[in-house]
Amino acid sequence: MYALPFLDLPPLNGASGTVRLPGSKSISNRVLLLAGLAAGTTAVHDLLDSDDTQVMLQALATLGCAQRWEGTGRQRVLHLTGLGGQLAVHEADLFLGNAGTAMRPLAAALAVLAATQGGNFMLHGVPRMHERPIGDLVDALRPLGCTVQDLGTPGYPPLRLHGQAGGTLATETPIRVRGDVSSQFLTALLLALPLVSAARDIVIEVEGELISQPYISITLNLLARFGIAVQQQGWQRFVIPQGSAYRTPGSVHVEGDASSASYFVALGAIAAKGGAPLRIEGVGSDSIQGDIRFVDAAVAMGAQVKSGPGWLEVHRGRWPLAGLQLDCKHIPDAAMTLAVMALYADSPTHLSGIASWRVKETDRIAAMATELRKLGAEVVEGPDFIEVQPLPAAQWRPAAIHTYDDHRMAMCLSLAALNPLAADNTAGPGVPLRILDPRCVGKTFPDYFEAFFHVTTAHPAQVPVICIDGPTASGKGTLAAAVADALGYHLLDSGALYRATGLASQWDGVAPDDEAGLARLAGLLDLRFGHGPEGSRAWLRGREVSSELRTEAAGLLASRISGLAGVRAALQDLQLAFRRAPGLVADGRDMGTVIFPTAPLKVYLTASAATRAERRHKQLISKGIPASIVDLRADLEARDARDQNRAVAPLKPAEDAYLLDNSNLSVDESVQQVLSWWQARRPF
Ligand code: C5P
Repeated sequence: MYALPFLDLPPLNGASGTVRLPGSKSISNRVLLLAGLAAGTTAVHDLLDSDDTQVMLQALATLGCAQRWEGTGRQRVLHLTGLGGQLAVHEADLFLGNAGTAMRPLAAALAVLAATQGGNFMLHGVPRMHERPIGDLVDALRPLGCTVQDLGTPGYPPLRLHGQAGGTLATETPIRVRGDVSSQFLTALLLALPLVSAARDIVIEVEGELISQPYISITLNLLARFGIAVQQQGWQRFVIPQGSAYRTPGSVHVEGDASSASYFVALGAIAAKGGAPLRIEGVGSDSIQGDIRFVDAAVAMGAQVKSGPGWLEVHRGRWPLAGLQLDCKHIPDAAMTLAVMALYADSPTHLSGIASWRVKETDRIAAMATELRKLGAEVVEGPDFIEVQPLPAAQWRPAAIHTYDDHRMAMCLSLAALNPLAADNTAGPGVPLRILDPRCVGKTFPDYFEAFFHVTTAHPAQVPVICIDGPTASGKGTLAAAVADALGYHLLDSGALYRATGLASQWDGVAPDDEAGLARLAGLLDLRFGHGPEGSRAWLRGREVSSELRTEAAGLLASRISGLAGVRAALQDLQLAFRRAPGLVADGRDMGTVIFPTAPLKVYLTASAATRAERRHKQLISKGIPASIVDLRADLEARDARDQNRAVAPLKPAEDAYLLDNSNLSVDESVQQVLSWWQARRPF
């Protein structure tokens, strides 16, 4: 994970493989609310784990809904016990982040419950949430008899909802709601009003044109699963039958997020150009989400798509992509992805019907136009449209992309990293991209970038490498791991490869001077790295060897066998294979001189022998291993001498390496120094 507030993407040139999508945000939060209002316990499978669902879960917990998790990882199942339509808690302060899918339906449900059962609820969120309109919903609730108090700007959260027990609502006449700003207001009423349907049918009438109709279909579909059969009369009139009551279906599966699928459909259309497709699992031909229709738009631009229940497979078809003229009312969220695909087309793309972009996580029309222009594109924006011109390969500029705390901006714009493939194919190596505040993807797709890099390829020469070489116990490992962590880059601890070869030779009884035998072991090294709470872990032939590899004995044996040319050659390809997007930090002795001679940043780390012996001594003592400082220093110096004097790949600074003596520096100071050298080489 990238600890810094940005993530740099190298130019990418291909895509294939399989992505498993996280659960749909829209379905997840609707299911949570319905399960929370229903009687009994609902088992929710494949629930999205993200910022927006977290705030909903937290709110439901505060309201008294019991929650129990079973299983781990993607197999986790939530057992949520609902209120059965009866408030358990009558007073609460609910923080709802920037989740419109939590704010709107909870506002409606709690307004109705407070008005009839008595209660006092405060609903608020992050500053941007307080700029997102809710007035049309409030205007529908007040005539019913709900007391809704604006605590800030009228028509926007924060809100206070209150009322006395025993109140009744005026449900005799149709409840009117505007449908042209956000369909979430109608969704909120549809989800909440079954609560007060005991006496009569409840009629909801939509004023003006209803936008985002597919989201209403999701709402109706999920209401039906919870036992509420809303009668639909076109898109203008909806009737909740008298006596409707939420009944848990027992268990619910949340399908993958179709809006999230759009980034990978686009990726396939742009970059799945070899034999293998890009396969997307979690949504498919049977999806109930409107954004699945993004696939039609992508096909119109040139994608080749196959689909079945729960899956899609995408190939590049027409290339360059074709420009598109489309009214996007039916796919408001996924349509953002089309605006970035437009860069790879051979004619302009005009997306209309997107006025709702202006009231989303940010003003998405303005944000999209600004960021696409930073890349070099020509963009025209209007109140409810955006027009994007193709961007020829030679005109792309490296850019630091603002994401406006909007997950979709971050995910869409990541597609700009495929610029070496851009339309006119006169491409050079392409330009890198910086995504600012990449963690905003946590709203709907917390491991988006991991998934993205898992299925994309880069030309190795375009993947940045930071080399950190130096003598034994200079602190390379700690420094390299911290720099990798800060940048979100991969890490190569090359010493571990020599140590593991030594260990394997002991297991197999290969003598330390049997060069051919050792080289064979090195060539077949089955070594895997991973992360645990205590730092990095390693497995050799499936057996965990994390601590065995770190012993002094393993270091000494490694130092002996690393002088053998055959061993070094056998480990070369394995080391080169670590050079994968988004980047690599490699530590060792010959990273900058032999393995990655063209690396854009090389650091040679030193510290006096006395300092290094002292550090190693402290380390050993803290682990309860007795050690003598004098012996340690002698060992270090012997090892340095052997590493420096060997015939192959001797330890020495690369000519273009920065020297860093960290004898008097803290780890953090060294990390900052390396990061600032790195920043100076970046084009952003
Ligand atoms: O860095 P570490 O102490 O894990 O390395 C163990 C030994 O492996 C070193 O003493 C060195 O002789 C050898 N080595 C090497 N080239 C590298 C990394 C380590 O020769 N790139």
